[in-house]
Amino acid sequence: MRVLVSNDDGYDAGGVHALAEAAAALGEVWVVAPLTEQSGQSHSLSLSVPLRVREHAPRWFSVSGTPADCIYLALHELMPEPPALVLSGVNRGSNLGNDVHYSGTVAAAREAALAGLPAVAVSLHLEPEDRDCHWDTAVQVALRVARMVLDAGLPPRTLLNVNVPNVPPDQLLGVRAATLGVRTYENRVTRREDPWGRPYYWIGGAHLAFEGRADSDGPLVEGRWATVTPLHCDLTDHAFLDALHDRFDG
Ligand code: MN
Repeated sequence: MRVLVSNDDGYDAGGVHALAEAAAALGEVWVVAPLTEQSGQSHSLSLSVPLRVREHAPRWFSVSGTPADCIYLALHELMPEPPALVLSGVNRGSNLGNDVHYSGTVAAAREAALAGLPAVAVSLHLEPEDRDCHWDTAVQVALRVARMVLDAGLPPRTLLNVNVPNVPPDQLLGVRAATLGVRTYENRVTRREDPWGRPYYWIGGAHLAFEGRADSDGPLVEGRWATVTPLHCDLTDHAFLDALHDRFDG
């Protein structure tokens, strides 16, 4: 059995090494991950530039593109047959609530789900003051979830988004199924000038809050629970669709 591992932090990141080593307990591991960090690239595909692939070790590849590019090339070019499972991560930093729309880690798993494969994204929730990463805690949770998926499968076009607090394994309270919450960030724009006096900008600010339900992913992870959130590729708002039917079709 083959397991494909990818991420958005790059092929040599600490989290992908930890996850690939742990996944060896499940089967033959293939790593296909970006050459450079691609955090925040979401599901973009490189359609207008060529992609370079390099094999750094047996079955361990970098791709000069995005996480979705990596899954695409792994499934349709590099691997001899599709993997039984796709794992993405472990991301350095959580992907909670709104984050899933921007995350390359989640997008790699979603690209696999769109291709009909069971997929799990795994992220480690870091506080600003955290220096050390408890990859051991994250991969223990990842393996537990992966075994459940291999045993029971996932519904079509559904992927799992897993977030793990950055604590030693014995301080983790457990694993909870959770809804996607709402995460807010400071809307910060930093304006600077280049050597020729032209302005350039850095966008993105600090985490502000997890809003909404106490049993959603963010509040649970802050309370030292690992969370598993099922995400579906069907983004249709079915409740509002009924209202639209009434307005347009009636
Ligand atoms: Mn990342």
